[in-house]
Amino acid sequence: MKIRFLGTGAAEGIPAIGCDCPHCTRAREEGGKLVRERNAILFSLPDYELLIDCAPDIRSLINKYRITRLDGILATRSRYDHVGGIKEFEYWPGQLDFLAEDRLFEAIQREHWTELLDAVMFHIPYYPGSSLYFNGFSIIPFAARRRRPIFGISVKEGDTRVVYTSDTPTRLTNYARRVMWNCDLLIVNTPTFDKEQENHINTLEAIELKKQVGARRMVLTSINHENLPHDELEAFVREVEGVIVAYDGMTLEV
Ligand SMILES: [Zn+2]
Repeated sequence: MKIRFLGTGAAEGIPAIGCDCPHCTRAREEGGKLVRERNAILFSLPDYELLIDCAPDIRSLINKYRITRLDGILATRSRYDHVGGIKEFEYWPGQLDFLAEDRLFEAIQREHWTELLDAVMFHIPYYPGSSLYFNGFSIIPFAARRRRPIFGISVKEGDTRVVYTSDTPTRLTNYARRVMWNCDLLIVNTPTFDKEQENHINTLEAIELKKQVGARRMVLTSINHENLPHDELEAFVREVEGVIVAYDGMTLEV
């Protein structure tokens, strides 16, 4: 499968609004891989183009990367930075599947939905631990947090397994770890480098997680201005086998 990272920033993006920290200042001045739009990932699966999350910047990302085909959107949580761009799809020329767990869909409907979207989207509920079967691939969602409806996914095509954690804390269930076990690629949202946070795993903890679950490769994404700038983070992970720092526009074949 082909995976395209359209946006690789965390909630505030880089540069963050109104922020004059050295990271944001460098991003404004130098541009390139230092700039990160909010998180959106495109999975090209057998005859199915699946967008994971729908960043507020999705309209410009879709135009920038010349995406003219989509079959479905999978939402992992209801916050603005994950699904704030959904209203842009009122103008999508066609029909789209909208994959979201029921509680999550209710929250998205409350906060972001419009009547016009009903004409474009088919809601397809997913359930943590239950495989969503497509001819040629399958998706198993798992709870990324215990109390809030936030979900990671394992995407399986043939013998290849890719796991995307979405916004997960370090404290994962044994089930989620087992889903990640020996996967070919683990994609982890790591907003910060070494700051210990209850709700988010950091870069150093993610590197430890990769070892614990035996993932072959790992991509770090959803990075914010408190993490290292792209070049410094890349230099750091060069010493760790199989770890890649995502940047906006990066494409991977798995
Ligand atoms: Zn900043």
